[in-house]
Amino acid sequence: MRDLLLRHVGSPDQALLLLQDCTSNGKYDTNAMYDVIRTRGTPVDWSSLVFNAGCHPKHSFIGLLVLQNGLPTVDRIISRGLYLVNRCALCEGCSEDLLHLFFACPYSRMVFLDIANWAHFPTSTVLLADVLHCFLSTRTTGKQKASLMALLYFLWKERNNRIFRGVQSSPETLCIVIKKVVNLRLYGL
Ligand SMILES: [Zn+2]
Repeated sequence: MRDLLLRHVGSPDQALLLLQDCTSNGKYDTNAMYDVIRTRGTPVDWSSLVFNAGCHPKHSFIGLLVLQNGLPTVDRIISRGLYLVNRCALCEGCSEDLLHLFFACPYSRMVFLDIANWAHFPTSTVLLADVLHCFLSTRTTGKQKASLMALLYFLWKERNNRIFRGVQSSPETLCIVIKKVVNLRLYGL
């Protein structure tokens, strides 16, 4: 840390000044120092959608993977050379890829439309790219953002439950769970 700090500020005197700046009431503040020495990236336009107080961190993480096309969907696993039968676990009628899961699949479309209506989404299109574009270009409420992130999370969880645990929920049950979790997170209800 000493060498890192010296590289950052250039001299021991400057380092001492910085240490004093990062000390309050005789206590060294690690957060303040980290804020000084960390490299700041350019803010991305989706940060307020994914990282906001109304979203559960688990939901934000899955939302981030969806935005970055980082979910290990079957089509992506196959593209890496693994042999798998590509069949959507939610509808069992189509092959699985990101756009099918969100929200071209009949199962996920039903859940999406119900949650979109409940949370008053600014769009009713079921095309993922259009949904994300709309959320990123429109002023949306905390409930709308939290609902979208919860929707992505619980659809992905439902898909995994079916594949890895052999258990499944109806679209109606999933909608109830999503609404409960969003209400609990936002309003403590
Ligand atoms: Zn499907």
